[in-house]
Amino acid sequence: MIKTTKLKLSKIKTFNQYIFLIESTIDSLSKQFEEIFNYSDIQKLYDVFIIQFSSYTKDLEADKEYNEVERKKYFEIFVPIFIKCAKRSRQPVQERIKEYFSSYASIEKEFKETNFHNKDASQIQFSTNQIYSLFLYPEKKPYDLMAETLFLIESNIILGILAKQQRDFLDKNKTKDGETMILLNDVDFFAETWGGRPNRMDVSIYDGYPVDCACGETHLFNSLTTHVIRELSGRRLVLTCPENDGYATCVKLKGWLWFRGFKSLFGTKIDEEAEENTDELDFMSKVVEKVQKNYS
Ligand SMILES: [Zn+2]
Repeated sequence: MIKTTKLKLSKIKTFNQYIFLIESTIDSLSKQFEEIFNYSDIQKLYDVFIIQFSSYTKDLEADKEYNEVERKKYFEIFVPIFIKCAKRSRQPVQERIKEYFSSYASIEKEFKETNFHNKDASQIQFSTNQIYSLFLYPEKKPYDLMAETLFLIESNIILGILAKQQRDFLDKNKTKDGETMILLNDVDFFAETWGGRPNRMDVSIYDGYPVDCACGETHLFNSLTTHVIRELSGRRLVLTCPENDGYATCVKLKGWLWFRGFKSLFGTKIDEEAEENTDELDFMSKVVEKVQKNYS
């Protein structure tokens, strides 16, 4: 899992891909936990993962040396996680955020009362995770919490790797507010947009919203002229360019509770002349190979 996380990180090109990785990692960690221990209530677990993640990046929470863009990006990571969590519990987001902060406070209190001075690094990690485990299952005796503690230690490393990378992403985004879109070659583009389903949702409700297109222009979305090639997980769509042939853009629908516009993630230019000469089977096998690498 750690190896996979590092591999995925090495392929990430945009901040949005990074946010998506954080979301899916926290989600998959909690799902694993649910499967292994068969616990139905994972709300607290979400809190623990977010607290663990944020404790690695806690210097980012202080606003002293970070500008507006950086703090905005920091919250761009947290808000989707909270919203996901709120959706599961059918709770308003504000309540989830309140719960998160009260969890944070109670865990922090435990930390303050624990003496870490005479412990080595691995003992500190073990004690830390035992505190998390006790927070999750206060009714259990400490010696019963071994499995949970060990699981949390494993996830701790993954979250730590992700959090450390976050600094690099924020540094990269330090000077520019608007991101330039990444143009991928056709094989990479197909691999990144693998899966999903043909367009089924009614996209006419997005008419009139601007889309930053791979062709370099910004178009107003028009469901009659823009073709939705695929619907993908993570509220993403693959759109064709309405004005210039051969361009395709992968966009994310911003906002969960209400639509806040399109965010362009990456695009491609399909060279049609080259495409005519390409062996389709050969092309698809390259894509499949890439997808397998991405997910192995
Ligand atoms: Zn265009």
